[in-house]
Amino acid sequence: MTKHLFVTGGVVSSLGKGLTAASVALLLQRRGYRVRMQKLDPYLNVDPGTMSPYQHGEVYVTVDGAETDLDLGHYERFTGTYCTQQSNFTTGRIYSDVISREREGGYLGKTVQVIPHITDAIKDAIKSLDGDDVDFVITEIGGTVGDIESLPFLEAIRQLRQEIGRTNGLFLHVTLVPYISAAGEMKTKPSQQSVGILRSIGIIPDMLICRCERPMDQEQKEKLALFCNVDRDLVIEEQDVQNSIYEVPISLAEQALDVYILERLQLAANELDLTDWQQMIHTLIHAPAGELEIAVVGKYISLQDSYKSIYEALAHAGIAHQVRVHVRQVESEEVEAQGAEALLNGVHGVLVPGGFGDRGIEGKLAAVRYAREHNIPYFGICLGMQCAVIEFSRGVGGLAGANSSEFDPDTPYPVIHLMASQREIEAKGGTMRLGAYPCVLQEKTAAGRCYAASEVSERHRHRYEFNNAYRDQLEAQGMVFSGLSPDGALVEVVEFPGHPWFVACQFHPEFQSTPLQAHPLFRGFVGAAREHRDERKG
Ligand code: GLN
Repeated sequence: MTKHLFVTGGVVSSLGKGLTAASVALLLQRRGYRVRMQKLDPYLNVDPGTMSPYQHGEVYVTVDGAETDLDLGHYERFTGTYCTQQSNFTTGRIYSDVISREREGGYLGKTVQVIPHITDAIKDAIKSLDGDDVDFVITEIGGTVGDIESLPFLEAIRQLRQEIGRTNGLFLHVTLVPYISAAGEMKTKPSQQSVGILRSIGIIPDMLICRCERPMDQEQKEKLALFCNVDRDLVIEEQDVQNSIYEVPISLAEQALDVYILERLQLAANELDLTDWQQMIHTLIHAPAGELEIAVVGKYISLQDSYKSIYEALAHAGIAHQVRVHVRQVESEEVEAQGAEALLNGVHGVLVPGGFGDRGIEGKLAAVRYAREHNIPYFGICLGMQCAVIEFSRGVGGLAGANSSEFDPDTPYPVIHLMASQREIEAKGGTMRLGAYPCVLQEKTAAGRCYAASEVSERHRHRYEFNNAYRDQLEAQGMVFSGLSPDGALVEVVEFPGHPWFVACQFHPEFQSTPLQAHPLFRGFVGAAREHRDERKG
């Protein structure tokens, strides 16, 4: 029978529940168990695909084309397993399914209610991950205990645990134990109150995972255990990590969190081997080959979470090359105001990530031009590829005013245009070209060398594409189309061979990078940036 872990959060948001859940998953996996993960989000959008990155941070895309919460990125990076459409449910999605069923007459004349119909739908969503090929399902409940909107989710997990029994399900409550500097003390009261709210709705947490800035002492742990009805051993401390989020599982393992979970669920604690993980952290921290600076030029730069997977993938590639990658976060509108030289001077690589809408586009184009003209390694992702094509068309191809029809519908040279499959679509939610598609690579190109494979699968999220009417012309001027859809119809990777490393792809490689296995293109890019640094020094 599949065992369930339910992860809730108390006191405040942004406690890192997603990282905690991902760390627990890694530990269970490393003890030989097969784990699937899921996040339940209490907001009304059907998925985060329609939300601004300022509201929600990055939209993470799964292989099967779900637009999801960025915590799923942590799940995949920590465990190396893939999430699916079943890995993220929102209140909006649950209600939308229940209401559609009601309209179809699926409830046979009954009054449709939050309890039992919504809670049943939530339980079904959780159980949809059960299976013979999975030992654990970890379900993270978004938001903070006490929020009105998370109540149906909490009621659903309460019922589900009651149905499956104590040896098949556990409640893990991630909570905050703040340090009050005026009093010189850590305070357990907010956590007691948050557990009190859980208890009032029938959930007694089995384990408390206490986020704190400083180490907790025995007395505080005993106090929490006593007042929260939790065994003393199951009050676990999760202090802020010093260097990297990838240290979280190590610190949880030191307190035997995984062993307690297995004991409670009457499972064997096979040996835990984290050697490669520890080695990876060692390289990340010590970075024997020095430091690099990469500029990421985007329009949502002010919010750290907007480019989460990009920053992580750069760090992974740094680990592969034993360098520490510093990101210079450059706001594209600032490039328009101050010029590329002022903002990009001295960087070892330039990356333009994905994005939507025309704000800051000319700044991104100026960044591409700067990288191309100064022989600085350039990596374009999605919109960053489209910018590379526009800039090349204008700067090398002589097509003044070339643009994407997304930004300038009247451009004389729409080198990027709406995909044929998108022309009739008006609804915004879930309608882009989404999920993994195969890409055939040309040998003896930078992309071909990075992947060392002739066909790969990468994830997409876009509406616009390279306009094939310009393919011959730009090819004659030196642009190489190194990755195409298998039927040759869609341009997926472009590059510019007269440059040390200038590669841009329509897909999002950042979603497939893990700390133990950096993505081939990120590895290629950071390798080129490292060479650029060494040549400059030399
Ligand atoms: N706005 C562009 C498109 O829709 C790029 C999308 C992206 O970067 N994810 O094609």
